[in-house]
Amino acid sequence: MQSIHSRLMRAYARQPVSFVRGSGACLWDECGREYLDAIAGVAVTSLGHAHPEIAAVIAEQAATLLHTSNVFRIGWQEQLGERLCTLSGMEKAFFCNSGAEANEAAIKLARLHGQRRGVARPQILVMENAFHGRTLATLSATGNPAKQGGFEPLMPGFVRLPYDDIEAVRRAAQDCADIVAVLVEPVQGEGGIRVASPGYLRALRELCDRQGWLLMLDEIQTGLGRTGAWFAHQHAGIEPDVMTLAKALGNGFPIGACLARGAAADLFSPGQHGSTFGGNPLACRVACTVLDIMVRDELPQRAAELGERLLSGLRRVLDSHPQVQAIRGLGLMAGIELDRNCQDLVGRALAEQQLLITVTRERTIRLLPPLVCSGAQIDDIVARTARLLALDTEGSTAPPHMEDAAA
Ligand SMILES: *Cc1c(COP(=O)(O)O)cnc(C)c1O
Repeated sequence: MQSIHSRLMRAYARQPVSFVRGSGACLWDECGREYLDAIAGVAVTSLGHAHPEIAAVIAEQAATLLHTSNVFRIGWQEQLGERLCTLSGMEKAFFCNSGAEANEAAIKLARLHGQRRGVARPQILVMENAFHGRTLATLSATGNPAKQGGFEPLMPGFVRLPYDDIEAVRRAAQDCADIVAVLVEPVQGEGGIRVASPGYLRALRELCDRQGWLLMLDEIQTGLGRTGAWFAHQHAGIEPDVMTLAKALGNGFPIGACLARGAAADLFSPGQHGSTFGGNPLACRVACTVLDIMVRDELPQRAAELGERLLSGLRRVLDSHPQVQAIRGLGLMAGIELDRNCQDLVGRALAEQQLLITVTRERTIRLLPPLVCSGAQIDDIVARTARLLALDTEGSTAPPHMEDAAA
C-alpha cells in the first residue's frame, strides 16, 4: 500500500485507506479497523454493503447468463423497464451503464426533440453549480468551471442560468427562441446539497408545457428513495418528461437509465442510440432486486424518517457552531456548509472518527448514509460529525504540544 501512485492515472485524490469488507453501514480496512459509512459510495450503496439478497442474485444470474447484446430481446431489461415506469409514472426506458451515459441519452433526446420542431441549433437550459457527469457533453452541461478547465472547447448547445431562479428562466424564454429543454437536478448534490423550492419545479413544469420544452430531471443522486420519496420531484407534485437515474439503481453494480414520457418516449428510432453493455441481464436483474427490496422494506419512507432525525440532530449539535454557515438537506441528503475550505476533514474524519464523509464545493460536508441505517447509526453519524468539528475548533487554537498529545 506504500506505492499507491504506481500504475493508476492521477485522476483522483485518494485517501490512504482501502476497505476490504463491508456489511450494512459498516466497513473494515486491511487492519481490521471498523468504520461507519455516511456516504454510501456517493449515494450508490443505499441498501448497504454486501446485501445478502443482492449477492445471491448476482451469483445466480452470473451462473445463468451475463450478456447477449441488444441485438436480441432481454427479459430482465423488459421487466426492469416495466418496474421503473410503474414506480415513476414514466412510459419508456433506455438502459446504459452510468449516470453520465443516462444524461447523454437525455441530451440526445432533447436534440431530437428540437430538430423535430425545426430548431436547427437547439439549446438546453442548464444551471450554475449543476453536476451532470464527466463525458464531454455532460461536462459541458455541468456548471463547475473547476471541473471544465483544460477540456475546452466544450460542447455548444447549453445556456446557463442561476439555480432555483424562475425569473431567469422566463427571461431566457424571451431572449432565445432555440431553447428546447431544461436539464436540472431537484437537489444539487455535488453543488453543495442545494434544494430547489417546490414552487420552482412547478413553475418550470408550467413553463415547459407552455413553451413545448422537455423538462428533464437529473435524479441520478436524488432518485430511488434518497430524498424520502421515490423520486425527488414527487415532493413538488410534478412529472418530468425525461428523468435520468443511476447511482443507487444497482447498489454498486453499474447501471444507468433514461426514462421518458409522452412524445419524448418515442423520439429514438432503431440505430439512433445504443450501448453494448447497457441493459444486460445481470445489471437489470440486480436493479429489479434493488427495487423489490426498496418496495418491501419501504426504504423511501425510511429515508424520510431517518433524514428528519439526521437533519434535526445536526442542527441540534451544530447550529451555533462558529464555522457552520448553513445546514441543508432533504431526506438522507445532508450538507453542512462551513465558512472555510474543509477538504482536510475527509481524511480527519477517517483517521479520528472512523467515519466516511465527503466534502463538496470545498466547504460543504456532505452526508449520504445508506437508507438501511438504524436510528442509532444516524445518531452515531451526528455524534461523530460533531466531535470532528469540535476537534477542529480545538485543533486550530491549541498550542502545538497539545496537538501532539491529542495525536
Ligand atoms: C453522480 C452524478 C452524475 C454522474 O454519474 P456517473 O455514474 O459518475 O457518470 C450525474 N448527475 C448527478 C446529479 C450525479 O450525482
